[in-house]
Amino acid sequence: MTDEPLIVLEKVNKWFGPLHVLQDVDLSVHRGEVVVVIGPSGSGKSTLCRAINRLEPINSGTITFDGRPLPAEGRALARLRSEVGMVFQSFNLFAHKTILQNVMLGPVKVRKENSAAVRDRALALLERVGIASQAEKYPAQLSGGQQQRVAIARALAMQPKALLFDEPTSALDPEMVGEVLEVMTSLAREGMTMVVVTHEMGFARHAANRVVFMADGQIVEEAEPAEFFAHPRSDRAKDFLSKIL
Ligand code: ADP
Ligand code: MG
Repeated sequence: MTDEPLIVLEKVNKWFGPLHVLQDVDLSVHRGEVVVVIGPSGSGKSTLCRAINRLEPINSGTITFDGRPLPAEGRALARLRSEVGMVFQSFNLFAHKTILQNVMLGPVKVRKENSAAVRDRALALLERVGIASQAEKYPAQLSGGQQQRVAIARALAMQPKALLFDEPTSALDPEMVGEVLEVMTSLAREGMTMVVVTHEMGFARHAANRVVFMADGQIVEEAEPAEFFAHPRSDRAKDFLSKIL
């Protein structure tokens, strides 16, 4: 453990053509910290997440992960992507591979790890997310909530130092949201470093160490969840909360 943050963004700017989607964004995420990012649609939340594992290159500013600037390409970039897992709204599982194969794929193909050892780890992870009995099934045979739990197990199989979640429950039927949030909450309790874009304010209240509120490409406000929800400071945050709570 060190006090140096795991993820540091400094003066990060990103444009899509004329659109300035990240504007001088500064953000530090410490090891073991859970940061929930909220804000209106189009405020730059996904772009922020994607910038952290360099799915989206930035135009200016710096991002460091675990003390090093994000690599632009090659093996170093592949390693970064394995150290920063990402879970998307759409689960993106391989349809013609079994659940177990989906979870084993990264470590075996990308990292060239021994497949027997990976298999044991994958089965343990499926157990952890409550899907062990479905290991030999195909994604289409599982519910959305189960598929998203598999996607989390798949990210964990790479033994990441941090996990990014971009609206992981937004595509789910309401009755399946809870089972995914439960897995995420237990990861948070176990000390996983997490950046979570979500509209689930219950999760933000109970699992986050910090809430970051974005609007128009800027971080407008940052606070502990209890403080943020009780006393939002900016008009933008007050307005946003009045619409969703
Ligand atoms: P959020 O996740 O908060 O809804 P995004 O980060 O997805 O916001 O998008 C921020 C802004 O950037 C939006 O106006 C969106 O339309 C725009 N945008 C996102 N991705 C692209 C892209 N690949 N090309 C052009 N514009 C984009
Ligand atoms: Mg988004």
